[in-house]
Amino acid sequence: MSMQYPFLDLAKINAPFEAELQEAALRVISSGRYIGGDEVAAFERKLEQITGAKEAVGVSNGLDALHLVLEGYKRLGRLNDGDGVAVASNTYIASILAILQAGLRPVLVDPDPTTMNLSSKGLESVDRQSVKAIMPVHLYGRVAWDDEMHAMARENGWIVVEDVAQAIGARFTDRNGNAAMAGNLGDAGCFSFYPTKNVGALGDAGAVTTNDTELARAVRSLANYGSDTRYHNIYIGANCRLDPIQAAMLMVKLEKLEEISDERRRRAKAYDEWIDNNAVVKPTIPDDASSHVWHQYVVRIADGRRDEFRKHLSDNGVGTDVHYPTPPHRQPCLDGMDLGEFPIADSLASEVVSLPISHTSIADIREISLIINRF
Ligand SMILES: *Cc1c(COP(=O)(O)O)cnc(C)c1O
Repeated sequence: MSMQYPFLDLAKINAPFEAELQEAALRVISSGRYIGGDEVAAFERKLEQITGAKEAVGVSNGLDALHLVLEGYKRLGRLNDGDGVAVASNTYIASILAILQAGLRPVLVDPDPTTMNLSSKGLESVDRQSVKAIMPVHLYGRVAWDDEMHAMARENGWIVVEDVAQAIGARFTDRNGNAAMAGNLGDAGCFSFYPTKNVGALGDAGAVTTNDTELARAVRSLANYGSDTRYHNIYIGANCRLDPIQAAMLMVKLEKLEEISDERRRRAKAYDEWIDNNAVVKPTIPDDASSHVWHQYVVRIADGRRDEFRKHLSDNGVGTDVHYPTPPHRQPCLDGMDLGEFPIADSLASEVVSLPISHTSIADIREISLIINRF
């Protein structure tokens, strides 16, 4: 059904960039350089500049970014087979897949029901002997990090691998007033540039950021057949490189990162102001607005009325989505892994609804809010 207020329209998201994207694509076509080279290097320098991290490595996608970082730590002897990696139980499955693919053990932790993210309180329950790393996933664009989590990671010697797939451009300010960007809060940051993300490529793309030169070298090598120099292989690696054509597309959009984040914050604020319905629980806007880049605007509908709510919206021309309907611990591929019970992830999975935020005008958000208020 064609919607008056579609949840997502990728062509519309890219329309403002079209001329520049075409110019960049033509530049790559005529360069004759289709793997590696200046386009990828320029993208990496740009991401270093944005995050403040010493090193950025362009890779094939977000899942590979996470997997390569965990594999990299294993090759460097800092993680070992079976080590626990703590991660929120309501994350997208890719976070868990990366942990499993690296031969590590996902230790799921129910999220804070308000932030819908991993919290230091949740981490208090994990076994500090077997957990060697934590993976804060900045779900929906909200930074999953605070001073307590930082202190816990330090005390326990945990490696911190950020899943920044949904949160490029988010900033965290600690209690001393020091600010740092998502992707430069822990030991390594893993980015996805899947087309629907805040900064989307025109296909698959990802990146790793870190201040650790050794890790960056290991990731770069693992992503390029495990070679350190040409035809010399130190690891049994894979082919997980970033394409220059995607690097060129991303450069266009990274130039506009601040505007992209600001627009999403404006839309979230508009929903927050205008939605007024006791059946609809709005997401909290953090005190520090810069710590959220609103990849999704996720409301909660309790009492088993979620589907009824979505139908009301759809009947009125509003597209919605659910992130995510089935939590990882209930996915058939993880059957028999005995990951534990996660009541908060279960209730979120049955209650959450994502509203249009990627390209929706403020005027349309006004209309959508009025439709919501009539539910
Ligand atoms: C999109 C996403 C990924 C995976 O990124 P891809 O580029 O699609 O492989 C990982 N984690 C989270 C939280 C995501 O949203």
